[in-house]
Amino acid sequence: MSKLTGSELIAATLKRQGVHVIFGIVGIPVIEVAEACIQAGIRFIGFRNEQSAAYAASAYGYLTGKPGVCLTVGGPGVIHALAGIVNSQVNCWPMVLLAGSSDTDQVGMGAFQELDQVEACKPYTKYATRPSSLATIPFAIEKALRTSAYGRPGACYVDLPADFIQAQIQDRQYIEKVQVAATAPAPKYLADPEAIRAAADALRSAKSPLIVIGKGAAYARAESELKALIEKSNIPFLPTPMAKGLLSDTHPLCTSAARSTALKQADVVLLVGARLNWILHFGHSPRWSNTVKFIQIDIEPEEMNSNGAVTIPLVGHIPSVLDQLSQASLPRLPDSNTFLQKIKSTVHANVQKAAAKAKQGDDNAVMNYHSAFDEIKRQLPSKDIVFVSEGANTMDIARSVFDVHEPRCRLDAATFATMGVGMGFAIAAQVYYPHKRIVSIVGDSAFGFSAMELETAARAKLPLIILVINNNGIYHGLDNNDYQESRSNNSLPSTALSPDTRYDLIAEACGGRGWLAKNRKELRVAMAEALATKDTTCLINVVIAPGGRTKLEFGWMTKKGEAKL
Ligand code: ADP
Ligand code: MG
Repeated sequence: MSKLTGSELIAATLKRQGVHVIFGIVGIPVIEVAEACIQAGIRFIGFRNEQSAAYAASAYGYLTGKPGVCLTVGGPGVIHALAGIVNSQVNCWPMVLLAGSSDTDQVGMGAFQELDQVEACKPYTKYATRPSSLATIPFAIEKALRTSAYGRPGACYVDLPADFIQAQIQDRQYIEKVQVAATAPAPKYLADPEAIRAAADALRSAKSPLIVIGKGAAYARAESELKALIEKSNIPFLPTPMAKGLLSDTHPLCTSAARSTALKQADVVLLVGARLNWILHFGHSPRWSNTVKFIQIDIEPEEMNSNGAVTIPLVGHIPSVLDQLSQASLPRLPDSNTFLQKIKSTVHANVQKAAAKAKQGDDNAVMNYHSAFDEIKRQLPSKDIVFVSEGANTMDIARSVFDVHEPRCRLDAATFATMGVGMGFAIAAQVYYPHKRIVSIVGDSAFGFSAMELETAARAKLPLIILVINNNGIYHGLDNNDYQESRSNNSLPSTALSPDTRYDLIAEACGGRGWLAKNRKELRVAMAEALATKDTTCLINVVIAPGGRTKLEFGWMTKKGEAKL
């Protein structure tokens, strides 16, 4: 019989706490932990870089509503995983990093991969700890899992000293003796009834009310309460990028195609799990009216009145607070309301414009974003698709082209605008949604950050469809002639990447399938073949015209003014 060890205690604790999947990379001293977890029936997905593993755990936390768990070695492993910790914390997603660390009697001696990991993680976590004994590991893990999911979700860290992992346990019952009961789901709380009255009054008197839905509402699974409130009150809504799909993008009250008008003209805005950060232009004019009044539903009291916004604070759990608001019997906005009509006519006009753009380019023409996305959209089934997106123009344009109809079916670079999350997110999404197709639409530069995770996905038999939108560069690149000339006189722009890089061949080399698509016709064939592939990872290298040396501009950029030196 195998010896009973600290690893088995850790595995038993994770199992008891309801952990089904771990994302990570093993090495000394955590191989035994991963093996004990596999023995205990927990799925272990082994990555090629801790960054991607940690990004996957963070997205898994968002999708499941329970902390995603990442397991790494110490030192460099933790430094790489910090990328995912910060991403989780900034996005308010629950995740727990467990990492091996040096033996307790070698601390400070320059031990193997030694780092003060608690100190390194502390600034970016809600809780970071080094258990003081083997017996306290179950307590530390439960506290980390609970803390990451309760209140505003975020990241937590638990150090696993090598000597605790390897400790021999004589008495099998010891594991039971030190165990901690499984964490109950996060408590749900209600907003102050007085604030509910004030919010209802403000919405009642509004001439141009707007509901902004954020990814906090998606995380809180508020779709049915939101639908009830919106359809009863007839108030138009705007989803932030990751809140798309809580109500369908084709819902008649969706203002996405009239975003600027909606922001500028709204007089009372109900923010539902969305922060007034850069994504919402800080709530400031000129993007918003300078007399706009905000009502904010959020679990975090400190979020209220951010950036100078005057806010009616509804602090509580989103679905519960939406129920409270629904009971305050809001009047129905008449269909004749001027703001509503303006929104609807703007949406209509912009949808027409987008349809005209989509028609660009015949079957054999060099593609651009619009013709490539149009071709992809035509091939995709209308249901059970999860979009993952990263990149600059690729993500911006794809966001408006691809409608989302179901909640939590779109993952992107999010609040931290992180490039390199795509592969980790796509892997997490496929693990969570085994019966949906994950369609990852990524820029060529963004994809390069984590390309080796193709091997991870292929090994795990995940039939991701990865569409690398290849324009030879960051933002945009050069055509082959321009590239060769600049390269020969050592004046390549910093944004340039090698033209015609065969990302599709990397997929094949990793055990997946790859296609090169240079026009609509080739893309159509590749999409059909990829959609028919169910047992391995697919990558289509979608070559589009490089933008050359055109000026860069992005609609989301908000500047407060020129710096004065
Ligand atoms: P977006 O980027 O879509 O605007 P944000 O990440 O900025 O979304 O905002 C999400 C907000 O949702 C955070 O402020 C977070 O505190 C909040 N939140 C998360 N879960 C809940 C919940 N269960 N109830 C209320 N608010 C929540
Ligand atoms: Mg590019």
